[in-house]
Formats: sequence, C-alpha cells, structure tokens
Amino acid sequence: MNLKSFIRDIPDFPSKGIIFKDITPLLKDPAAMKLAMDALLDLVGNQKIDKVVGMESRGFFFGPLLALNLNAGFVPVRKPDKLPAEKISVIYDLEYGTDTLEIHKDAIQKGDKVLIHDDVLATGGTAKATCELVERLGGEIVQCNFLMVLDFLNGEEKLRAYEIRTLIHY
Ligand code: 5GP
Repeated sequence: MNLKSFIRDIPDFPSKGIIFKDITPLLKDPAAMKLAMDALLDLVGNQKIDKVVGMESRGFFFGPLLALNLNAGFVPVRKPDKLPAEKISVIYDLEYGTDTLEIHKDAIQKGDKVLIHDDVLATGGTAKATCELVERLGGEIVQCNFLMVLDFLNGEEKLRAYEIRTLIHY
C-alpha cells in the first residue's frame, strides 16, 4: 500500500494557483490511517516523549493518536481566541501579512520532551512558530514530524535547529 495514493491534489484551493494536498482520502481509509500512524511512530523510534504538540487544525488528526501510542499527552496549538485558559501567543510572517498561534501556559512543563506534529510542512512558518511557543514554556523539542513535506518551499531551512522527519516528499 502506497500512502501517496491516498493523497489527492485539489487545484486552486484555498486560492487560485495553489495545489492543495488533501489528506481526507487517507483519513477515511482505516488501513491507510494505520499505515500512516505506524510509520509516524517509527520516525520517533524509542525516543522518550512527554507531550505531542499538534497544530490547528490538521495536526489534530494524527497528533492525539501518536500521543496515545507514545504514552504522552496531547497539546493543541490553536489559532487566536480559541483557547479558553491563560495562554501565550506568537505572531509569524506569512507570504502576505502575519498570523498568530497560541498555546495554554500550563500545557508544557519545563523540561518536557516534545514531539511536534502536523500534516504538512510547507514554508515552515507554522512549525517554527510552534517550536517557539514550546521553547518559551521550557519544552525540549525532540523531533518535528509531518506526513508530507513540500520540498520546493524549503520549509526545512527554517527549522535547521531541529530534527525534521517526514513520511512523504513532494
Ligand atoms: P507552512 O506554515 O509550513 O507554510 O504551512 C503549513 C500549514 O499549512 C500546516 O498547518 C498545513 O496543515 C497547512 N498546509 C499548507 N499547505 C497545505 C496543503 O497543501 N495540504 C494540507 N493538507 N495542508 C496544507
């Protein structure tokens, strides 16, 4: 079974000229889900993880599954004004303009070993901003892992300081 065959291209989404990699065919197939989850767990190996941090919203699909299997907690990083308790924010640059991500202040304990997970690594802005939030709370980033990386956007360049592991390259 080839994971790539469960990811489809959607042209002009969310805006004209963008070819969006849609993972919903993978999510609706239990065998493909299991294959992807096991392969993501293999990327981590036997490294100790205390918290898996997933980014809104597609980091929420596999993030909690990885956390359960790693005997770790799951922590959501969310877009502005979604988290109810005390939180910290980071503002990061997009191609046009900026965006904000937030995390609860009590989500990470100092010294926690953290796995960052999202579905796609594109320009790296989202992952870099998430790493910053985790480190501001005293977390130690063990690995950032992704289902897919869009190599032509050079996201890995922004994340040179971290171990980056990905299942599928485009
Ligand atoms: P970056 O910040 O690396 O440019 O963008 C990564 C974020 O945008 C991730 O949270 C990811 O879910 C989303 N993203 C960007 N392009 C795609 C895409 O083609 N397919 C999917 N599923 N998500 C994307």
